[in-house]
Amino acid sequence: MAAHYDVVIIGAGAAGLMCAATAGYRGRKVLVIDHANKPGKKILMSGGGRCNFTNLNSTPANFLSDNPHFCISALKRYTPQHFLELVDRHGVEYEEKAPGQLFCSHSAKDILSILLTECEWAGAEIRLKTQIRNIAATDSGYRLTTGSGSINCDSLVIACGGLSIPTMGATGFGYDMARQFGLTVLPTRAGLVPFTLHPELKEQLAPLSGISCPVDVSCRKEHFREPMLVTHRGLSGPSMLQISSFWQPGDPLAINLLPTCSARDDLLALRSQKPQSTVAHYLAQHLPKRFAAAFNDLHGWTGPLQGYKNSDIEQVAATLNQWAIKPAGTEGYRTAEVTLGGVDTRQLSSKTMATLARPSLYFIGEVVDVTGHLGGHNFQWAWASGVAAGSDA
Ligand SMILES: Cc1cc2nc3c(=O)[nH]c(=O)nc-3n(C[C@H](O)[C@H](O)[C@H](O)COP(=O)(O)OP(=O)(O)OC[C@H]3O[C@@H](n4cnc5c(N)ncnc54)[C@H](O)[C@@H]3O)c2cc1C
Repeated sequence: MAAHYDVVIIGAGAAGLMCAATAGYRGRKVLVIDHANKPGKKILMSGGGRCNFTNLNSTPANFLSDNPHFCISALKRYTPQHFLELVDRHGVEYEEKAPGQLFCSHSAKDILSILLTECEWAGAEIRLKTQIRNIAATDSGYRLTTGSGSINCDSLVIACGGLSIPTMGATGFGYDMARQFGLTVLPTRAGLVPFTLHPELKEQLAPLSGISCPVDVSCRKEHFREPMLVTHRGLSGPSMLQISSFWQPGDPLAINLLPTCSARDDLLALRSQKPQSTVAHYLAQHLPKRFAAAFNDLHGWTGPLQGYKNSDIEQVAATLNQWAIKPAGTEGYRTAEVTLGGVDTRQLSSKTMATLARPSLYFIGEVVDVTGHLGGHNFQWAWASGVAAGSDA
C-alpha cells in the first residue's frame, strides 16, 4: 500500500522547507523529498557561508521576469520583516553588511536550523537520498514512484530549484515536471555569474588579479555601482555578478572606473595647474594603488600631462569613465548563483503559485521565472513563494 500525504514537496531547499513548515502548521500531512544527502545545501554555501537571508529594501523592481508583475502579490504578503520576525523568534544574530542586506553574524547553518526546527514543530517529514522515478496524475492527486516505494498525495509542490551549481544537487527535474504537465518553460541561462575574458585581455589584466575597486558598470540600459574584482579567470565582484543577469553574448560592458569623477575635467585642470603631473599620479589618487599602477601600465600612459593634447586627454578619460570591454562569456551554471528563466509564470496563480490548469500542482522558488538581484532578494523570493504555496496546498 502506498503511503498517503496531503502535500508532497520535491526539494528540501529554501523554498521547499518554508512551504513545508507553512503547510504543516495548517494541519496538513506534509512530506518533503530530496535526492541529496542533506537539506538546504545552497543555504549553507550562500553569502560566503553567512547567508544573506533577506534584503530590507526588497521590492518587485529587484526581480527579473518575463512577467514582471507576477512576483508582486507573494512579496507583498510575505515581506523581509516577516522573515526577520522568524529569525528574531529563534534568537539568531544577524548584521546589515551593506544597506538592507542582512547576513547571519555566525553561520548560514543558523538559517537552515530555523527552517528544520519549524518543519519539525509543524510536523513536516523530510526524506533525503530519495530518487523520484516517476510522477503520474491520479483521479485525486498524484502518485510518485520513488527508489523506496510509492507515495500518493493530494497536492504536489515542485521546489527543486534551478540549474546553478550542479555539484550541489541542481537538476533540470523541475523543468521536466513542468513540461510533463503541459507548462511552458522559458529559456534558462546562468545569472549572478562571473565573466570570462578572451585570452589576450585575460593576459593583459593578469597583473590586476585579486584587486577590487568600486565601479559603475552598464549594459542594456541597466547599471550597478558596486565593487568589481579582477580574478585570474576574468571579472567578478558584486557589480559584475549583477550586470551578468542582463548581459547577452556579444554585448560590450561599459565600466566607469571613476564613477564619482569626470576624468576629462580633472585631467584638463591638472594639466594646466600641474603640467608635470602624470596620469599614473592622478589614478593613484582615485583607485587602489596596485590597480592604478597596473591599469596605467596596461595602457602605456607615460610622460607628464603637458605632453598630452586635448584629444589624448579625451581618449584617456573615455577609457577611465567608459572602459568598453567585451566578455568572452560567463562561467556558466558551474559557479552561477541563480538560473534566469524557468517555468512561465503566466500559467501560475500569483497568489498561490498553483498552476492555473491544475490547482493542486505548485511551482515555487528558483524553478519559476522570477530571479532576484544580488543582495538577499533570491532568498526573499524563496520564502515568499514558499509561504504562498504552503498557505494553499
Ligand atoms: C554560491 C551561492 C550563493 C548564494 N548566496 C545567496 C545569498 O546570500 N542570498 C540570496 O538571496 N541568494 C543566494 N543564492 C541564491 C539562493 O541560494 C537560491 O536562489 C535559493 O536557494 C533558491 O531556493 P530553492 O528552494 O528554489 O532552490 P534550492 O535551494 O536550490 O533547493 C532545491 C532543492 O531541490 C533538490 N532537487 C533538485 N533536483 C531534485 C530531484 N530531481 N529530486 C529531488 N530533489 C531535487 C536539491 O537537492 C535542493 O535541495 C546563492 C546561490 C549560490 C549558488
